[in-house]
Amino acid sequence: MTAMNRLEDLRYTMESCNHCGQCKWVAGPRTTGWRFAEICPIHMRHHFDAYSGQGLLNIARELLDGELSYEPGLVDLIYSCTMCGACDTACKSIRDMEVLDTIAALRAHCVDAGHGPPAPLTRAADAIATHGNVFGRPRAERDGWRHTPAREEGGSGPIPEPSSSSEIAYFAGCAACYLQTGIARDSARILAAGGWDVQILGSDEECCGRLLWQTGQWQAAEQQIERNLAIFRRRGIKTLVTSCAECFGAFRGIYPRFAAVEVEVLHISEVIARMLREGALRFDREVDLHVTYHDPCLLGRQSEPYVPWQGEIKSFGLHEPPKTWRRGHDGVYDAPREVLRAIPGVTVTEMARHEENALCCGAGGGVAAANPVLARWTANERLDEAEATGAAAIVSCCPQCRGNFTAALPRRDRALDVFDLTNLAARAL
Ligand code: SF4
Ligand code: SF4
Repeated sequence: MTAMNRLEDLRYTMESCNHCGQCKWVAGPRTTGWRFAEICPIHMRHHFDAYSGQGLLNIARELLDGELSYEPGLVDLIYSCTMCGACDTACKSIRDMEVLDTIAALRAHCVDAGHGPPAPLTRAADAIATHGNVFGRPRAERDGWRHTPAREEGGSGPIPEPSSSSEIAYFAGCAACYLQTGIARDSARILAAGGWDVQILGSDEECCGRLLWQTGQWQAAEQQIERNLAIFRRRGIKTLVTSCAECFGAFRGIYPRFAAVEVEVLHISEVIARMLREGALRFDREVDLHVTYHDPCLLGRQSEPYVPWQGEIKSFGLHEPPKTWRRGHDGVYDAPREVLRAIPGVTVTEMARHEENALCCGAGGGVAAANPVLARWTANERLDEAEATGAAAIVSCCPQCRGNFTAALPRRDRALDVFDLTNLAARAL
């Protein structure tokens, strides 16, 4: 393990939290009113400080100092956090601290102490170890999306044959391989339309391991990362294209904590934007739709590359040598918007909380598996915000977001559609 911060390494962050509460709110100048000013899904749901970045820092310090002991309610609280990173970005707008890294280390501490994670997340880890995917589905069906039309939106039309020699690979990820297959099919069609010949890893493709890291199962995460990097080396891959924000964020922000990543990682929104700019791809068909765009957490504020740091924290928090902070401002925000605006007939209205201040869809951090009620509740909060724009559809760039929004829709009578960016881009070809 190269650059993993254990809980005891993050004492500076825990001890310098001054309880200012910024981690629960969109930064002042970016708020547009009371209704959509909160940023932490679990604080919005429970209205207790314990359910927030601030609260989790306090809990972590008290556990470390023996002032608090693990008990089932506490473990549930720790695993209610969606690991969305909104608290981290909000805190870093005023402070130099590592809130999200501390929450991640708290979960690893919980696992090391034998108290976590909740059962659905250990089952997911077992499924990854045995079958290479979080759902426990057969490995041989990993590229079944290429041969079977999707049940949901996306993927009509023939899927191009993959290349066996290209140095570019399309990495679909578990969700698009087994559940949201229209996203994988549309991604493959778009890449081919733009002239990119890509490898499909098929049964060689495995879960990215994001869930393992986020849920504190770091030993399993490290093994999964090593397996994937070995596959990329063996297949001669130089560039990896993902349509899943969670895989993308994992390769950019989690993998470098464990090992050097020698492949270039691109999200499909970046690839489409590049193809459009270079004239390799054109949108000829009109898609008459008013949309709002949802920034996935791991494509937005958590997609800045992780740069390992070792040094000394001096008075007033001065980091020596200087540290490269991931403040969430340089995530992939422009490319998806550029693509949407290039589709004839599409108009885009921003939600109140967008870019680094976007509200999580609710599915991250293992919450969709361990606490689906909370995941749907958060999705409904986001769908309320989407509806407030007057848009007819919410568009995201991640199968997890689309899955969670779609699952939440039947709870209310909403006149709102849910799409992935690839669905609309493929419709416009
Ligand atoms: S914003 Fe940072 S310093 Fe302020 S309460 Fe939250 S974690 Fe603590
Ligand atoms: S990561 Fe997200 S859900 Fe967890 S405490 Fe921070 S803002 Fe709240």
